[in-house]
Amino acid sequence: MSDCLFCGVIKGDVKGSIVYQDNSVVAFKDINPKAPVHLLIVPRKHIATLLDLQQEDKSLIGDIFSVANQLAKDQGIAKDGFRVVVNCGAGAGQSVFHIHFHLLGGRPMTWPPG
Ligand code: 5GP
Ligand code: ZN
Repeated sequence: MSDCLFCGVIKGDVKGSIVYQDNSVVAFKDINPKAPVHLLIVPRKHIATLLDLQQEDKSLIGDIFSVANQLAKDQGIAKDGFRVVVNCGAGAGQSVFHIHFHLLGGRPMTWPPG
């Protein structure tokens, strides 16, 4: 989608520090990190929110969690624990409407999130 920030990061048009990419998934550093490790894992396919997922996207979501698993290990946050977060809708804090999975770790986490 031409006016989407994360489509721009994926295409390389918008500044973003990409740490992983394959045919379907891209991961890059959050510009305003909320933890020592804060990556955003996104599908290359433009999907606005969790509610917009289709049956055909099922394997893509599996791929994203596989990437989260691998990146958690690569970034050294797997052992101490980490969090994968999807904000769905403005009321939950979603500000970029290209679905993204926050991978957060490297510090103690509290519950519930605010
Ligand atoms: P949301 O609030 O939609 O769940 O998460 C959006 C995330 O995107 C935020 O954590 C924000 O810091 C990050 N973000 C916003 N603009 C940019 C940008 O231009 N580049 C990168 N790498 N991250 C961004
Ligand atoms: Zn997009």
